[in-house]
Amino acid sequence: MELALKPGAEAAPLAFAEETPPYSSEEEALFEAERCLLCGGKEAPAPCVAACPAKVEVPKFIKAILDRDYASSGKTIFAANPLGGTCARVCPVEELCEGACVLHKEGRRPVEIGRLQRFATDWVLEHGIAYYKRARPKDESVGVIGAGPAGLSCAAELAKLGYQVTVYESRPELGGLVTRAIAPYKQQIEPLPREAEQLARLGVEFQLGQAVGEELSFEELERRHGAIFLGVGLGEDVEVHWEGDELEGVYESLPFIEELKLGDPRNLKLGERVAVIGGGNTAIDVAREAVRLGAKDVMVLYRRTEKEMPAFRKEVKAARREGVHFYWLIAPKRFLGSGRVEGLECLYMRLGEPDASGRRRPEPVPGTEFVLQVDTVIKAIGQRPRTELLQKIPGLSLKDGLVEVDPQTGQTSNPKYFAGGDCINGGATVVQAVHDGKRAARGIDQLLSSTSRRR
Ligand SMILES: Cc1cc2nc3c(=O)[nH]c(=O)nc-3n(C[C@H](O)[C@H](O)[C@H](O)COP(=O)(O)OP(=O)(O)OC[C@H]3O[C@@H](n4cnc5c(N)ncnc54)[C@H](O)[C@@H]3O)c2cc1C
Repeated sequence: MELALKPGAEAAPLAFAEETPPYSSEEEALFEAERCLLCGGKEAPAPCVAACPAKVEVPKFIKAILDRDYASSGKTIFAANPLGGTCARVCPVEELCEGACVLHKEGRRPVEIGRLQRFATDWVLEHGIAYYKRARPKDESVGVIGAGPAGLSCAAELAKLGYQVTVYESRPELGGLVTRAIAPYKQQIEPLPREAEQLARLGVEFQLGQAVGEELSFEELERRHGAIFLGVGLGEDVEVHWEGDELEGVYESLPFIEELKLGDPRNLKLGERVAVIGGGNTAIDVAREAVRLGAKDVMVLYRRTEKEMPAFRKEVKAARREGVHFYWLIAPKRFLGSGRVEGLECLYMRLGEPDASGRRRPEPVPGTEFVLQVDTVIKAIGQRPRTELLQKIPGLSLKDGLVEVDPQTGQTSNPKYFAGGDCINGGATVVQAVHDGKRAARGIDQLLSSTSRRR
């Protein structure tokens, strides 16, 4: 399986330095594992397990660490989450498992579940342990579109059940946004390729560079497979244009991070004063990377207030600690300069009535224009839904470009298709995509088992 990955770590070491490094020794991991109260039991799951969308059995894997049975510990994690090593690095743990840790109730810091999960999964991957068992092979095959977290998780579950699974991915590499977008201070390239390697060992076939709906039609896929999973995520950055967009030094967020992660960071001609436009996790990732790439003054401009910002609180706090400045209730009007961007004309906003999202709508305050001196602007406004692609599937019900699914099974309005991940939720987390992929795999198994019984 070819993985066309080119880490830029040598060219930009600070940008790739891990924010949360692994434990430096086995003893350190054991010391932390000792703090776990190993709660939960038959009556009710531990709060950390209940808070995990993938339902990783945290007390069980921590107990195995304490028993120094690292292989069982890692296997427990991968049984629930085929991207257990990736999630150990990228999950917003303070909002999920660690946020639910009972030690909070005693005013103590939570158990470092994410770092312990990384310890156990790294151990298993580094020792090359094959952690999946395949059931008796079945005749039916399933096509999975997209090799992001949702697609990989669905493929893993189906392959474990014995289905023949083919994953079609339009890009030359696996991993979706994990590989090309999540900032390298959180997740470099590993361990996703090694996690995917385990799927290949399980018999999953990967067809990279295959854009379904273009060179390969949906009809052809329907002929090949009994069921199809849509894990296509979202598209490129939202197209918002301002005057001066074409100036040198104006970037879109996804190509910016992709150049840093998979291309050559030296191609990013970052100046000293960087303005990032947006209030989501992408804006924060980009701002924190700009600091690491040496920008002297990095500011995030958001048109609502801090309260409405969709970015994770911990990330915002960390960005502030690193010197990123936040400006609220500000929107860009045009980019100024000749050749390279030199200024950003902005204006103040105020919050009006709530919009469809329930958040108060920002409205411009006339006559409040002012100019910020900047030499780089990065637009991080969000991603577009893949409406055009999804409309090619007959009978597929969409809402605002997102696929509508049955909440129990992940099945769409076209019974042959199931879906999960960002293409149904508009952009959430890796572990949510993993959850959706697993749910759809169960739904597909139900569908294919009932049709094979009828035959
Ligand atoms: C900058 C940024 C930072 C983030 N940081 C975090 C974080 O720290 N923690 C966290 O948990 N989440 C984070 N996320 C969110 C997380 O990355 C996504 O929620 C997750 O990757 C969604 O998985 P997915 O499989 O649904 O979609 P994707 O990861 O987008 O994968 C979809 C795949 O489908 C492929 N595809 C699309 N169309 C076709 C087609 N027609 N044919 C074949 N293949 C196709 C795409 O090429 C892609 O590989 C971040 C997102 C961004 C943008």
